Amino acid sequence: MKDCIFCKIASGEIPAQVVYEDEQVVAFNDINPVAPVHILLIPRLHIPSFNDIIPEHKELIGHLAWAAGKLARLKNINEKGYRLIMNCGRDGGQEIIHLHFHLLGGRPLGSSLVAD
Ligand code: 5GP
Ligand code: ZN
Repeated sequence: MKDCIFCKIASGEIPAQVVYEDEQVVAFNDINPVAPVHILLIPRLHIPSFNDIIPEHKELIGHLAWAAGKLARLKNINEKGYRLIMNCGRDGGQEIIHLHFHLLGGRPLGSSLVAD
């Protein structure tokens, strides 16, 4: 997708600190981390948001979830715990219109459901 910053990261056109990649997904450090571990996980396929998931994406979304768990183990935050966030749309606070999970951990994240 032309002009999508995350598509450009996935293709290598824009640099990022990639921590995991395979044929379906890419994971890289957030440029503005809010926790010691703050990784963004994206499908290589340009899916704009959670609203745009169709049945054909089910395996891909499952793979993305699997990769998040794998990274939590790799970063050693699996036992203490972590948070997975997916913002959707304007009210959900989504800024980059390419579906992504935030994987956050490495410090206590509090119990609030709404991160202000
Ligand atoms: P959203 O609000 O869409 O859920 O989150 C977008 C995230 O992408 C933000 O946490 C922001 O810091 C991160 N981000 C925006 N632009 C870039 C970039 O060019 N590189 C990286 N690594 N992260 C970015
Ligand atoms: Zn994209």
